[in-house]
Amino acid sequence: MIIVLRQNATKEQQILFKATLEEKYNVSVNTWVGTGSTVLGLIGDTTQVDEDWVNAQEIVESVRRVQEPYKKANRKFHPDNTVIELPTGQKIGDGSLCIMAGPCSVECEEQINYVAERVKQAGATFLRGGAFKPRTSPYAFQGLKSEGLDLLKGARKKTGLPIVTEIMSAAHIDMFESVDIIQVGARNMQNFELLKQLGRIDKPILLKRGLANTIEEWIMSAEYIMAGGNDKVILCERGIRTYETATRNTLDLSAVPVVKKLSHLPVIVDPSHATGKSWLVEQMSLAAVAAGADGLMIEVHNDPKRALSDGAQSLTPEQFDDVARKVFALKKAYDEIMG
Ligand code: PEP
Ligand code: MN
Repeated sequence: MIIVLRQNATKEQQILFKATLEEKYNVSVNTWVGTGSTVLGLIGDTTQVDEDWVNAQEIVESVRRVQEPYKKANRKFHPDNTVIELPTGQKIGDGSLCIMAGPCSVECEEQINYVAERVKQAGATFLRGGAFKPRTSPYAFQGLKSEGLDLLKGARKKTGLPIVTEIMSAAHIDMFESVDIIQVGARNMQNFELLKQLGRIDKPILLKRGLANTIEEWIMSAEYIMAGGNDKVILCERGIRTYETATRNTLDLSAVPVVKKLSHLPVIVDPSHATGKSWLVEQMSLAAVAAGADGLMIEVHNDPKRALSDGAQSLTPEQFDDVARKVFALKKAYDEIMG
């Protein structure tokens, strides 16, 4: 339920009204203060809330019931875009284009340092790299695990790029303490226990869309994290499974404007996992910018043919230079066209 307050409502009236709602109906109340209005978002079981009583209160302008099952992630509760700011100053969702780039897996020190340096030079703002890898086969390379995390930290020290890496188990949260953005992979999008634990920490979470999940399910997973108190969620569209086999997944680009309409959270696109083919990454990156994405996540490897995972979809540093240049040029034009 959403309650819009009258413009002339005093601070004291607002505090009293909020406390009354919480006590009378056992709900929690989120307050969003905009330039022209103040909106209260009621979270919890609102079926008992008497709309007529709420409407009759002096400071209430209007009341609306919200159909969607997500509240904290809902744009109706928070009309402005969420901007996620890292302690080191980088922003996601502020209208700029963030680029997270790096190898699928961290393989060794030379590899991660070299790729980090190259993607930084090309304009990437974050270094990605998997240390814990969710592989379809238990016999495939599983990642360097904690050693991989240490190598990422080393590359961060050398380049200054904040690091993004995937967590696979809630038992590893302490190990991820100094990771800048924790990624939840597609396969764990509905690992609700993991999401709940990540809701208790104060760190941005990059939540990838599940292989076969609807947009509503995806936003509900963000809601799990937010319900625990962590509002710093970034959504990542990485393609979904359809009957099409020409590409690894089907990139659902319309998800970008759809999610942005439904939610205030930033949305980025991963064209690498979406297509599975390096030659498609450039065009899909450009298309993602045109769809209004807040950023891109792109796999880059020093030697894709020899990559321990996802070589077929990885760009060489030279290819990434080219893609990044075109993407930034398009973003500039996009901003001019869209105002
Ligand atoms: C990854 O980013 O390396 C990854 C495994 O992605 P996804 O969860 O989207 O498959
Ligand atoms: Mn990968």
